[in-house]
Amino acid sequence: MGMSDPNQLPPPIPPARGRGAEGLRRNLRRKRVVGNGPMTGSLAALSEVSAIAAAAREVSGVDVAVCPPFTLIAAAVARSGGVAIGAQDVHPAASGAHTGDISAAMLKEAHASLVIVGPSERRADHREDDALVRAKAEAALAAGLQTIVCVGETEPEREAGHHLAVVAAQLAGSLPEPSGEVELVIAYEPVWAIGTGRVAQPADVAEMHAAIRSHLRDTWGDAGERVRILYGGSVKADNAAELFAVADVDGALVGGASLTAAQFVPIIRAAAG
Ligand code: PEP
Repeated sequence: MGMSDPNQLPPPIPPARGRGAEGLRRNLRRKRVVGNGPMTGSLAALSEVSAIAAAAREVSGVDVAVCPPFTLIAAAVARSGGVAIGAQDVHPAASGAHTGDISAAMLKEAHASLVIVGPSERRADHREDDALVRAKAEAALAAGLQTIVCVGETEPEREAGHHLAVVAAQLAGSLPEPSGEVELVIAYEPVWAIGTGRVAQPADVAEMHAAIRSHLRDTWGDAGERVRILYGGSVKADNAAELFAVADVDGALVGGASLTAAQFVPIIRAAAG
């Protein structure tokens, strides 16, 4: 046996349960818990991914994923033990002079299996509009990346009573056509709850998730029934079970509490019920 090539990427993870039309039918609406570490993490901290993966393998009935920054994807895959690793953004084009951007094919080559598009920070800091979010989602799905499209209202929008209309407009503008083969997921992330420790009240989450489900059903019929809707915004071990009990909450997109196994694993366990 020769020495392993240090430049070679780790082998692809086996097809996640849920890939392909049959897997999609079998797994849809089981809980999905996704960790998002925006501009956070280091090679040294990847021991947390190993610990999360080890614990996640012991929990059945929950699809777990971790989305580190681009620079850590390949190293995270090597430590993930088959737990899905995703990315936090993707460029809509396949190639071209887009300095600093990453295409869906590049993510696939790094063995990412999913990607987050349209989180509020990118909509605000990078002025991403619905059309761009949709183009990114289309590129990701076409490349075979499970795609999480984020929507959510700001605090002034909620206070003005416009939250349902704002999210409806984001859905209408940002959602690609579902591919049938590759999973599309929605994450409802009220902007005022992200990283603030202010979690949305279950009744408010129920209202929004029901509205999103109704939009999906109206748009895609039965296919809309099968789309998972995650809640994101200050999900922690002590509020996860209550949120997961809300109708049409099919999992969580977790920021701060996904960075350590000590905080993330209890959320995964809460999703298992
Ligand atoms: C996020 O970063 O997507 C997020 C929801 O963060 P937090 O869980 O820390 O609010």
